[in-house]
Amino acid sequence: MIPSVLPTYNRAALTFEKGEGSWMIEADGRRFLDLGAGIAVNVLGHANPVLVEALTEQAGKLWHVSNLYNITQQQALADKLVASTFADTVFFTNSGTECCELAVKMARKYWNDKGQPERVEIIGFEGAFHGRSSAGIAAAGSEKLVAGFGPLLPGFHQVAWGDLDAAKALIGDQTAAIIVEPVQGEGGIRPMADEDLKALRTICDEAGILLIMDEVQCGVGRTGKLFAHEWAGVTPDIMMVAKGIGGGFPLGAVLATEEAASGMVAGTHGSTYGGNPLACAVGGAVMDVVAEDAFLAEVNRKAGLLRQKLEGLVAEHPEVFEEVRGAGLMLGLKCSNAACGDVVAAGYDNEVVTVPAADNVVRLLPPLNITDEEIAEAVVRLEKAAAQVGAEG
Ligand SMILES: *Cc1c(COP(=O)(O)O)cnc(C)c1O
Repeated sequence: MIPSVLPTYNRAALTFEKGEGSWMIEADGRRFLDLGAGIAVNVLGHANPVLVEALTEQAGKLWHVSNLYNITQQQALADKLVASTFADTVFFTNSGTECCELAVKMARKYWNDKGQPERVEIIGFEGAFHGRSSAGIAAAGSEKLVAGFGPLLPGFHQVAWGDLDAAKALIGDQTAAIIVEPVQGEGGIRPMADEDLKALRTICDEAGILLIMDEVQCGVGRTGKLFAHEWAGVTPDIMMVAKGIGGGFPLGAVLATEEAASGMVAGTHGSTYGGNPLACAVGGAVMDVVAEDAFLAEVNRKAGLLRQKLEGLVAEHPEVFEEVRGAGLMLGLKCSNAACGDVVAAGYDNEVVTVPAADNVVRLLPPLNITDEEIAEAVVRLEKAAAQVGAEG
């Protein structure tokens, strides 16, 4: 009999009752160190008092009004994002997937309104993840995502990760945009080199096409800059943001330049929930903390600490791990002889939560305000997990 919850997930036998900062706690009091943060979502940890206050204060006033009216909290958050990024304008969504939908629509509408409606094609990279909608799976193109789901939304191509020559060669008079994650998340924590991201910007500029960056996982302070592309010193035309921006409240945002957004006039797009007062009150509180230079400096310091300890772990357990990779507090442990799923499961035994990714990588995406002591404790627990897997292997 089918379970009452549609069984599209292989769930671990863990049930958390509450969260405190970097910890998740089961009903019997078992405390797990959370290096997954709901997959890069809980950037300020669980039940953060600042976010609880922002949420409850807004909940007592006004949860939801339609986008048919002005929404003060949405306006404030849009202003904040515009002031802190390349963007001139923002549309709020409830998820990363919806950002992908709008990014694709925006790019196509841009060319349509420029008198080149044939420019509908979007070039992406293998290993990408852009969400589970028809556009999202077509943009990523992997067999795992698309198999069985019938005719795909047309107009998407993928080239091998980092193969800029192939991307350039694919550009033609029907190309609208290139889409890229500056650091692939689901694909196995694969950062694109700064020079490659710069080169990609140049390729788009020379061809006159749009560059879409998917920062759903790597954005909002995760890599130690507010957005990951800042490390390369180049900017996108359109950017997808979600996961961390709501700190645990469902919220996403598409940021764009005035030029890229020029086709999106009144009536061309909308959302019932997107950008409602409750979501934007929380998102505003997240931004107030994360966009501060001092906060980002701490993310970088802690990232250095964690990375150094993980390098030690890899050196100690070559039978389990091959390398540490990633950027900031978006780190991956590439497994050697072990299967990443076994390492994640052994982590559960030792009360530390990590997330598997493609390419046999264990993902570490802790809350950005994890403490030094918690980092040290996390690596002690990962060490136990590695020893367990090593002994079994
Ligand atoms: C998670 C993710 C998405 C999809 O976001 P949802 O909120 O799950 O719809 C899109 N792109 C990237 C890079 C992601 O990590």
